Amino acid sequence: MTDLQSVAGPALVEARRCGTCSLCCILPDIDELDKPANEPCRHCLTGGGCAAYAARPATCRDFYCLWRTDASLGPEWEPSISGMMLYAQGPQLTVLVDPERGEDWRRAPYLGELEAKARALKADGGYVVVYVGDAVTVVG
Ligand code: SF4
Ligand code: SF4
Repeated sequence: MTDLQSVAGPALVEARRCGTCSLCCILPDIDELDKPANEPCRHCLTGGGCAAYAARPATCRDFYCLWRTDASLGPEWEPSISGMMLYAQGPQLTVLVDPERGEDWRRAPYLGELEAKARALKADGGYVVVYVGDAVTVVG
């Protein structure tokens, strides 16, 4: 359910960088790398970055979390601050939470903002799903 899949190249928000964040190399399962969820990819470098950058699979080349592509997400959603990464999967807005910070999404401002997103998405058949390890919660 949290499998990361290749997406068409989205436009990036200016001045946002991944920095030392590696959450998208840790939280999702990635079939191409035989990587389970919530374990660092074997190519993760300490302090951020990829030891297989030139040869990384298409899923990695094409993927950016929503914080990198959606300017409406405020600075509180920077993954290294929130402990969460967001991405869209068809009608589903997926929220992967660092299990070590598993309750943070229920706190302000995150839960209120996720509930607002769930209400907005509902009109078009969309929804918000939060994953914390094996726990799955539909917001709203
Ligand atoms: S989760 Fe987002 S900010 Fe963090 S490394 Fe991945 S794309 Fe960059
Ligand atoms: S191959 Fe590189 S970019 Fe892809 S998940 Fe592993 S560390 Fe991240």
